[in-house]
Amino acid sequence: MANETADLPSASAPAKARAALVAWNSAKAENYFTADPDLERVLRRHLGPAALDVERAGLTAFGEESATVLDGLIRENNRDENLPQLRRWNAVGERTEEVIFHPSYAAIGQRVFRTGVIGRYNIPGQDRVQLAYAYLVAHHGEGGHLCPLACTAGLVKLLQARASEALKSQLLPGLFNLDRNCPEHFHAAQFLTEIQGGSDVGANAARARLDGDTWRISGEKWFCSVIDADLYLMTARPEGARDGTAGLGAFVVPRLLPGGEPNGVFVRRLKYKLGTRSMASGEADFTDALAWPIGAVDGGFKAVVEIVLNTSRLYNAVGACGILRRAELEATTYARHRMAFGQPIDQFPLVQRSLEFLRTERRLAVAGTFELVAIADRIALGTATDDEKDVFRLVVNMNKYWTSIRATKAVHEAIEVLGGNGAIEDFSVLPRLWRDCIVLESWEGTHNVLAMQVLKDLHRFNLHEPYSRYIAGMGASAATRERAAVDREETERVLRLPPAAASLEVRALVDRLMVTWQTACWDAVESESAR
Ligand SMILES: Cc1cc2nc3c(=O)[nH]c(=O)nc-3n(C[C@H](O)[C@H](O)[C@H](O)COP(=O)(O)OP(=O)(O)OC[C@H]3O[C@@H](n4cnc5c(N)ncnc54)[C@H](O)[C@@H]3O)c2cc1C
Repeated sequence: MANETADLPSASAPAKARAALVAWNSAKAENYFTADPDLERVLRRHLGPAALDVERAGLTAFGEESATVLDGLIRENNRDENLPQLRRWNAVGERTEEVIFHPSYAAIGQRVFRTGVIGRYNIPGQDRVQLAYAYLVAHHGEGGHLCPLACTAGLVKLLQARASEALKSQLLPGLFNLDRNCPEHFHAAQFLTEIQGGSDVGANAARARLDGDTWRISGEKWFCSVIDADLYLMTARPEGARDGTAGLGAFVVPRLLPGGEPNGVFVRRLKYKLGTRSMASGEADFTDALAWPIGAVDGGFKAVVEIVLNTSRLYNAVGACGILRRAELEATTYARHRMAFGQPIDQFPLVQRSLEFLRTERRLAVAGTFELVAIADRIALGTATDDEKDVFRLVVNMNKYWTSIRATKAVHEAIEVLGGNGAIEDFSVLPRLWRDCIVLESWEGTHNVLAMQVLKDLHRFNLHEPYSRYIAGMGASAATRERAAVDREETERVLRLPPAAASLEVRALVDRLMVTWQTACWDAVESESAR
């Protein structure tokens, strides 16, 4: 009907323009999995055809659900009037510290968690599949549930690696429960940041004290995303422990005590945020909150970085990939339907260049990120080589930084393709995705902090050597291998500089290394598909 109106010579100009926009909406992908042959190629490379065939039905079903039902629910959930609210007291004046969500929030969560996106962690090496689902969720940006997924995955892995058998059997069944809306289901949050420092976690002042044989945490946390979670992973300093990160322990703090009352937590307020708005982030004070240590209390932070933050950085990158794909889908379909100067705007070379930029950025980000995810799976399965472990250490930080800034740039470009309509919140999802991107850039490590970590790791472990070997062995094109050789010289030059000069150059170095990494990964996908 819409196209017929658009084609009618007698229709008014506004009617034709409106009909073209209706046609744009009808032309959008109805299945984010089947509409993405490049994802299939990437997954075939990393899972193999047989395992991909096993997963295909689930991914296809969720790809459709994500493009249709979830899209409507997430748009609704993100309307200003439907954002989460804090209700601190109940009717009879008891403190509840409850977050009230619009019903669409639970409906989205139920659909996301029941895919089994977390439940698969009961066997190791499942991130390629888990994160393929997360990518399909991330077509909606954070979507209210990507952060909870990342936090839950991080806690599951930390418990599996470090917790006592008793704590594991107490918490893991709830974390693996796929029915998000039932009382036995748990999802998690992770609170490290305090007002005096997010990057500088060693400045944490929250303290843990042993009361008989029970640990209790007191102090404040400044950024508490998923404040409604059942389980909070928290860093705190046990009494008498050293300063800095080395003295921090890792604890699980249940939000509620067995009787249903808050566990020593007082939520000051919910953050009034730029992005990720349908997920509730708060500021919280803790007073003698019951806490369970995860493994030995000394060395907690090292485990949090290696297991939890690295998991979050993978989820963050996959979040950026999903956003990149959605930006490409929105802009490409729009350009096909929007008319200007008598022709669809995708006929203009400059628009074509924007669309090509979006396609290339998304391809590179997905190829580079899933290569890293595949290495993470080999590490979890115990089959990774030492070189692969080193490559993971280097690229997980660079990739988080790079994918998030490229996603922001790409969404901005997609907004431009939509012209003025691109800036309108209820016309397209792009403004929301763009706001989410800026949060993706910041949390789980800012640009500079990740770049400085890369510099430190390059100095300490010469990680550029295993990185060069890995790229050489990937079947990358001759041009990419030549580029990698120049990267190596450039890295060595930066490492010879005095510290301040090196810190000023490391961002440009990381940018360079990431272009090589992503290109090599995409080359490998293409050469495998050509076989
Ligand atoms: C919406 C949102 C939700 C969040 N949710 C959570 C959460 O649930 N749990 C949690 O623990 N945290 C959370 N955070 C906090 C987030 O992880 C931190 O904001 C982030 O790590 C940066 O810390 P900061 O804000 O203290 O910035 P700062 O550390 O104060 O950094 C400020 C600036 O200084 C730069 N800088 C710092 N150190 C260096 C250095 N050595 N060299 C060069 N530059 C440097 C940084 O790059 C940055 O540009 C959330 C943040 C946001 C925005």
